[in-house]
Formats: sequence, structure tokens, C-alpha cells
Amino acid sequence: MSQTNRSSKSSSHTKKAKVWAVANQKGGVGKTTTAVNLATALAACKKKVLVIDLDPQGNASTGLGVDSNDRSRSIYQVLVGGIEIEDTILKTDVPRMRVIGSGVELSGAELELVDAPQREFRLSRALEPVLGDFDYILIDCPPALGLLTLNAFVAADSVLVPLQAEFYALEGLSHLLRTIDRVKRGLNSRLDIQGIILTMFDRRNNLCEMVASDVREFLGDKVYKTMIPRNVKVSEAPSHGKPVLLYDVNCAGSKAYIKLAGEIIRQEQDLAKETAA
Ligand code: ADP
Ligand code: MG
Repeated sequence: MSQTNRSSKSSSHTKKAKVWAVANQKGGVGKTTTAVNLATALAACKKKVLVIDLDPQGNASTGLGVDSNDRSRSIYQVLVGGIEIEDTILKTDVPRMRVIGSGVELSGAELELVDAPQREFRLSRALEPVLGDFDYILIDCPPALGLLTLNAFVAADSVLVPLQAEFYALEGLSHLLRTIDRVKRGLNSRLDIQGIILTMFDRRNNLCEMVASDVREFLGDKVYKTMIPRNVKVSEAPSHGKPVLLYDVNCAGSKAYIKLAGEIIRQEQDLAKETAA
């Protein structure tokens, strides 16, 4: 018994962060909201979490209250300027949670890297030295399947897909799934789909219910049971530079992200037990 304890302890020292790309080529589906608030909920569950803002719009940075003065050392400098990643990691108001910010200069990165060798591997290489420092690294991707998202897919173990239950959702989803499959075959054989998160869900809306059941039929247990409801507090929080869990921990949105973190952690524990058995 004590032997098992010791060995599990020693293996936890060499444990590496799970790296998840939060991606969907569609804008406004809840990627940033999910990256910021799921990360916060995981940190509240005692996990060490890093959020990487990989969108030139910098919404995750704003939503986490990153000061504009602090944006000079951002993920852009890591990808293009060759700055060490450790020098770009900032503290947040959430214990155990860190962020790497981004800003408009990141929108030039795709062009600037066009002739760079191994340009799809920049983020993956850069992350190596900090993998041991976190339990989870969540990468908030831009709303496109360009070089930035490709860098996230090459660096990631899996992809979390926020999906807004609306008419065209499934159409966009199959394109995303094909892209993930292509990356898996060509650049990163580890890459998997971690799960689909239904966002901005409105139970009173029949279309929402119909799309949700179609998505579940199509993707089965890849779709999380927890759905994130449309909730005004969730949309207000970023203007205060706070995750919704700090803005109003009791609102429906906060509760949903806490529940989602619980579902994800339980799923990981079950999987770990299965592989150990
Ligand atoms: P993306 O990163 O995919 O572009 P965002 O996370 O920025 O999407 O969300 C788009 C908009 O919808 C933002 O204004 C955000 O505040 C709002 N939003 C996201 N999730 C919710 C929610 N559960 N309830 C209400 N508003 C939400
Ligand atoms: Mg976003």
C-alpha cells in the first residue's frame, strides 16, 4: 500500500500539464468565456492552471484584467521574438491561475512566420519548459483555422470545442473535426477531441434543444452533460476584468462552469483508473 502511495507520488512529480486548445473557427461561440471561466473553476478545484491568450483580439487578457502595460511581453514575443515563455507569465486575481496575454501585434504573426522553419511547432517548443509547472494549460484560440490555431493544435493533447446551439452549428463542427483529423495524421498524432461544450444554452428555445440533441446524437459521449446557460452575469464579468466566478459566484453561469470543471476532473480520474487497471 505504502509502496503504491510512494510511486504515485513520485510519478506526480514528473507529471506534465494537460494542454487543451479551446477552439472553434466560428467567432462568438464562447471560446474565450470558456477558457477563462473553466480555467478559474479548475483553479478553484486546487489545480494549477495557465491560460494562453492566442487571439490577437486579446479578449481573454482583458477578461482577466491584464494591464495594457503588461501586454508588451505577450505570446507574440514568444512565437516571433524568441522571448522565453517564463518571462511572459503573469499572475491573475485567481490563486493558482496564470495568464500569458496577447495584443494586436499577434495579428501580424501569421504573415511574419510565413517563411519561418517549423512554424507550426513554435508554441509546442516554447511550452516545453513550463509543462511541469501546471496541471492544465488552456489555449484560447482565435476564430479561424490559420497558423495560430494550428500552433495550438500541434502543442495540445486535445481540443475543447465550445459550441453554441444554433442552426449552423453542426456544419461548422464537421469542418473543425476534419481539420483536427488532418492535424492528427500530419503534425500531432496525440491530438484528440477532449469534449464539446454546449454554450449560451437557452432551455426555452426549441431550436437550442433540437440542435443539442442532434449534436449528442452525432458525437455521443464526447458532448459534456453540463451545458452552459445564457446568463447575463457571464457577459458582464469581462468588462470588470474578472472571471464570472469572481464577479458573482452564485449566478447560473458560475455554477455551470464549476459543474463542468467537476465533470471534467471526474472523467479524467475515471480514465486514469481505467488505464491503471
Ligand atoms: P468567442 O471567444 O468564441 O468569440 P466569447 O467567449 O467572446 O466567444 O463570447 C461571445 C460573446 O458572448 C461575449 O460577449 C460573451 O460575453 C458572451 N457570452 C459567452 N458565453 C455567454 C453565456 N453563457 N451567457 C451570456 N453571454 C455569454
Ligand atoms: Mg474569443
